[in-house]
Amino acid sequence: MKRILFTVLAFLLGAAAFSQAVLPPGSPGVRLPPIPRDGEGDSGAIVPILIYHAIRPYIPADSKGARRWIATPDTLESELSWLRENGYSSVTFDALAAHVTSGAPLPARPVILSFDDDWQSQYENAVPLLRKYGFTGTFFIWVRAVGRAHHMSWDEIRELDAEGMEIGCHTLTHLILPKLRSDDMLRREIVSAKDLIEAHIGHSVTSLAYPFGQYDERVVGVARDAGFTSARSTWPGVFHTRDGLLSLTGLIRTESTAKLVDTISQQLAQAGRPSSGSGIGGPR
Ligand SMILES: [Zn+2]
Repeated sequence: MKRILFTVLAFLLGAAAFSQAVLPPGSPGVRLPPIPRDGEGDSGAIVPILIYHAIRPYIPADSKGARRWIATPDTLESELSWLRENGYSSVTFDALAAHVTSGAPLPARPVILSFDDDWQSQYENAVPLLRKYGFTGTFFIWVRAVGRAHHMSWDEIRELDAEGMEIGCHTLTHLILPKLRSDDMLRREIVSAKDLIEAHIGHSVTSLAYPFGQYDERVVGVARDAGFTSARSTWPGVFHTRDGLLSLTGLIRTESTAKLVDTISQQLAQAGRPSSGSGIGGPR
C-alpha cells in the first residue's frame, strides 16, 4: 500500500514538475503512458542523477525560459563542492545498471552527473570542474549538433571518452520521440545515433537520454532492442530499479546549491531514506 501511495505521489509530483520544467516553451505536451517507472520492484539503488545542460554565466539576452536550461559555472562548482564534502562519489549509468541487474558494488554515496546536448560550454566550463573535484560525468551526445556553433566537436568528445568520462546517446536530431509515427524514423533517431557515436569513439554506447525526457512503451522497446542498458528521462526521482532502467528519473539542475540539497533531501525522504546520517544516498 505504501508503495502504491508513493508511486501515485511520485507520478503526481512528476507530472507537475514535468509540465513546468521539461517541455520547452511552446512545445506541445505529450502524455506519458503507464509503463514501469523507478520505485517499482523489490530492489534497487538510490542514486541522484543530476541533469545539466549549458554551463555558462547568464547573459542579458537569456530569457527566463532559457535560464531553465543553464547552470552557471559558480553554481556547478558549488554543487560539486557540496557533493564532495558530503561524501558523494560519481558513478556512470553503466555502473548503476550493473548494480541493479547483477549486484556489482557501488560506492557508499553514489551520484551521476549527466550533461545533455554536447554544449561547448560543458567542455569549456564543466569538464575542468569535474577534473578539479575528481568526478566523472556522462555526456549525452545529440549527434547532428556535433561540430555546430556552440557544440563540441568529435575530437573533443573523443578526448572526454579517453579520460574516462562516459559517453551516452541523445539521439540523432533531438525530436520528441513518442510523436514519431514512423517506426523507421524512431529507429533512425535511436539506432543510427548509437551506431554513429560508436563509430566515432570506437566502442559501444549503452546509455541513452530521451530528448525532452519523453518516451513511451514503443520508444523504450526500440531502445532495448538497440542494446541500451539504461535510458534517462527527466522525471524527478532518485530510486532506481531493474524495471526502471530504461525510464530512469533525474533532477534537472539550473538553480542554487541550496535548492539541490533541498531536492535531494526531499527525494531521499520520498524514497524512504533519511536525509541525514550514514545511510544517505547509499546503494540498496
Ligand atoms: Zn537535450
